[in-house]
Amino acid sequence: MLNDRHNMKTKNSKLALSTRAIHGNKLYAYKGPVSLPIYQTSTYRFESSDDAIRYAKGDPSVYVYTRYHNPTVHDVEEKLALMENAESAALFSSGMAAISTAIMAITKSGDEIISTPALYGGTYRFFRDELPKHDIKVSYVEPEQPDKISKLATSRTTIVYFETPTNPTLDIVDIKAIVEQTRKAEKKTDQKITVMIDNTFASIINQDPFAMGVDVVVESATKYLGGHSDIMAGVVIGKADYVKQVKGLAKHFGGCADPFAAYLLFRSLKTFELRVRKQNENAHALARALEKHPRVNCVLYPGLPSHPKHHLAKSQMSGFGGMVTIEVKPSKKLTPVEAAAKVCDTLTIAVNAMSLGGTETLVSIPVYSSHVFMKDEELEKHSVTPGMIRISVGVEGVEDLVADFKQALDEI
Ligand code: PLP
Repeated sequence: MLNDRHNMKTKNSKLALSTRAIHGNKLYAYKGPVSLPIYQTSTYRFESSDDAIRYAKGDPSVYVYTRYHNPTVHDVEEKLALMENAESAALFSSGMAAISTAIMAITKSGDEIISTPALYGGTYRFFRDELPKHDIKVSYVEPEQPDKISKLATSRTTIVYFETPTNPTLDIVDIKAIVEQTRKAEKKTDQKITVMIDNTFASIINQDPFAMGVDVVVESATKYLGGHSDIMAGVVIGKADYVKQVKGLAKHFGGCADPFAAYLLFRSLKTFELRVRKQNENAHALARALEKHPRVNCVLYPGLPSHPKHHLAKSQMSGFGGMVTIEVKPSKKLTPVEAAAKVCDTLTIAVNAMSLGGTETLVSIPVYSSHVFMKDEELEKHSVTPGMIRISVGVEGVEDLVADFKQALDEI
């Protein structure tokens, strides 16, 4: 079946891909079930000890233990790699398991990472709190100054890491400029530097980083790929050699995906493109409506002409995504964060909950969620303000959503 890879890589084929079963695994026949079987097992019965001997001699086709490999997980990995036009993918138990393993697989003590500062808080805290324990240094360059990458790079630089659109400020980082400057840095330092992007916010439907020269895509599959707020998963996608290294480290770190979560992810991928396209449409319409509301200071959405990097977004994204961030105006009675909380508590359709990418609209206050446990100067560096509300727009009727936000904002 995997010989069908080339046929499946046609233009605009993402939906076709996500509705097609890819039964690459020899453990069950291709003429078997339409749906993906769940191998809900931690271990595998050997036909005889010859299997154990073959495994001990390094035969990769012998299944032994689900932390190492699982047919359900494997098929989802194949599907994700196909969807992203990549050689290989590794599935994890969460986005953070994917990100931390992707990074640790190619860094050692003394190495350096260059990153843009506006990151998902969990990634930023991993960089801030964990990497220094391994003597791995992270330096930050503003997205407007990508030329600093080649200036900052040394012979110890192994990764250039970034996100776009950023969480929660929806700033746009110039992907081609980051890649170009990293290649310059490679020439200067005479060493391979991996360009790694967290593509969670845009997803492959809206942004194709590999087509712009990025080496590795990491993604929280808990969000748009999963899409129903019911699983935790993460994925690392890239060249086969690199992903093999990542999977090797995953055996030690242990962040393997659960087969049932992998099954649910597979199921979600069948509607991935439908969901994301509807979320794009709804987000755009909601952003336009909120821009006109007197209690809103500003609306951050890359699809709006008022967004400072709208043109860049247009040039590197095929859709503007389902995330909108607003900053509410404080009132005489309420401070900015109190006003934001009031809106979140008054909404009746949108749900006051963390996370994003699900079919239901979720709202969260970044200073209490994605960017909690950060000092004022760190928040300032991330351009996160107390009056911000991050909206993950769902697939509801957009008129209902606009009316819901209007009535909640009117309460400030
Ligand atoms: N990357 C981004 C952009 C996120 O928003 C998140 C979580 O919110 C993660 C990574 C981490 O993913 P997970 O929560 O699945 O570990």
